[in-house]
Amino acid sequence: MANPTHLSLRKAIIAACLKMNELGINQGTSGNISARIEGGFLITPSGIPYEKMKPEQIVEMDLGGGYFGDYLPSSEWRMHYDIYLNKPEAGAVVHTHSIYCTALACMQERIPAFHYMIGVAGGTNIRCADYATFGTQELSGNMLKALQGRSACLLANHGMICFAKDLDKTLWLAGEVETLAQQYWIARQMGKPNILNKREMNNVLARFKSYGKQSKDLAKGEALAVEPPPRRDAPKATANRTDAKSSGAKRSTTKGSGRAKAARKPAKRAAKTSRSTQEPAA
Ligand code: 13P
Ligand code: ZN
Repeated sequence: MANPTHLSLRKAIIAACLKMNELGINQGTSGNISARIEGGFLITPSGIPYEKMKPEQIVEMDLGGGYFGDYLPSSEWRMHYDIYLNKPEAGAVVHTHSIYCTALACMQERIPAFHYMIGVAGGTNIRCADYATFGTQELSGNMLKALQGRSACLLANHGMICFAKDLDKTLWLAGEVETLAQQYWIARQMGKPNILNKREMNNVLARFKSYGKQSKDLAKGEALAVEPPPRRDAPKATANRTDAKSSGAKRSTTKGSGRAKAARKPAKRAAKTSRSTQEPAA
């Protein structure tokens, strides 16, 4: 292919593949990555080591399930294809054989809500899709079932797969799920982990909706799930905010320092703050 389209996205897919191996969440030529484009998606070719992969070897596929060019798409193109067809919010897909996810998948176990972060995949657990041979439509069907209301799942006797809005977010999610699998495994070595109940997980999931957003990023009618501290109008003091070195002043770090005094008066300061400044901007 002389001049491949979407050159920067092709390069970003290769960079994500290399990062995946560098992070230790995949090895060798296992795993595959794709990203949505208009009318289809770009996906890694089958069986080519990531270190040797060239942008022109990344395969373009359309939403009819056909591919363009001289290279065969990943043997798991069906899973990627089915995610793009069924999950409109998916902008990228990462499939890996990360160690702890794969170990649990070999036990055909789901990851329960042993930790609140399980909510990053959108629900109260991370399911394990039933086993089917790699590269088959049956595997993809099992995956879709396990992905109901979720953005990640384990694949029995195989690995894991996840999706998010873009490559960065999806790679991040793959790392998070692997960390959860590792934490769960370690907790299991110590006994039976306490599992958070549905009510608490629903609490967590509600908080996740606005987690990481700044007030200005909230949609109309959306509120911050975690109440922020009171917002001040402007920093008040000058004296005790001046850098000791630049002002040449000798300031004690003990009882009498400005900072120590301020720390002793939080209640009074908070009371001065008007109610309206605590409300997030809509
Ligand atoms: P591909 O090299 O065909 O993408 O296969 C890797 C893999 O993980 C198969 O499940
Ligand atoms: Zn695989």
